[in-house]
Amino acid sequence: MVVVGSYVVDLMSRTPHMPKPGETVLGGPFQMGPGGKGGNQAVAASRQGASVTMITKVGQDLFGEEAIKNFEQESIQTTYITKDEHEATGAALIAVDQHSENMIVVSLGACGNLTSEDVQQAREAFINADIILVQLETSIEAVEATINLANELGKPVVLNPAPFQDVRAEVLKKVTYITPNETEASLLTGITVHDEKTAKEAAINLFNAGIPNVIITLGKKGCYIYDGSDQGRLIEGFTVDAVDTTGAGDAFNGGFTTFIASGLSINEAAKRANAVAALSVTKVGTSPAMPTQKEVEHFLEREQVKES
Ligand code: AMP
Repeated sequence: MVVVGSYVVDLMSRTPHMPKPGETVLGGPFQMGPGGKGGNQAVAASRQGASVTMITKVGQDLFGEEAIKNFEQESIQTTYITKDEHEATGAALIAVDQHSENMIVVSLGACGNLTSEDVQQAREAFINADIILVQLETSIEAVEATINLANELGKPVVLNPAPFQDVRAEVLKKVTYITPNETEASLLTGITVHDEKTAKEAAINLFNAGIPNVIITLGKKGCYIYDGSDQGRLIEGFTVDAVDTTGAGDAFNGGFTTFIASGLSINEAAKRANAVAALSVTKVGTSPAMPTQKEVEHFLEREQVKES
């Protein structure tokens, strides 16, 4: 699998309440770790057993060196990670309150400068990959280059349209799977998505725009799938004690892409991806909170016992 996208360092503070403008709050524990949607999804996929090559850009600084070390520790191929001469490695300032709600400011730094050349120089990795995963937390130029190269080489491509940015309709049509959350699905379609019925409307809208497989994630409710084979369906989420929902979408996407590439049906891939994401919200942090393949297996076995 090739993952093209962002890497930022997560700087996370727990806080009793979110600061108002001008207010300074004395927070709880501070934690620093690898993050960014691209990096998180790469880690989620690698921990589910995928062989992952990461394409991103970091700064020539300590955070950039840490990034490469961390990817290597996660058995992720780093050959195509480039270094920006001017920009610093990206950073996310995250506050998580007592109710596990979060507020995030992301400065993309170097990974916002990913160019189409950076993507094209990784052609060999694309050729060797079974699937390509990309988000919108980098330059649109790099996203378009990724989708075009995947198409040229006949590789399926998963677009997680997060955070929302406008993508040209003719580019969206070239995507094999799209995985917006409720907010992104609403922005993509103009339909306010908040439940199964509105998810279905938005999914059909995206399907009719030329995307053959639409998966809308619905937080703890799970996800809604429309692929034209039936009326569409809700794949229910798992009930867990959530402590930090940051990175849930990344866990879902890394898992989903791994499971699709391994040959599972879209329903089974989405069910397992729900499990990966549910386990990720039981831990604090983003990349470090991604579960392993074994943890997911055990979780699904326990859920199976509960059902029977
Ligand atoms: P979201 O980006 O909020 O739609 O979440 C992505 C995925 O994470 C969902 O499709 C669920 O599989 C999972 N998820 C998110 N929040 C929770 C939660 N509180 N409990 C269990 N699973 C969750």
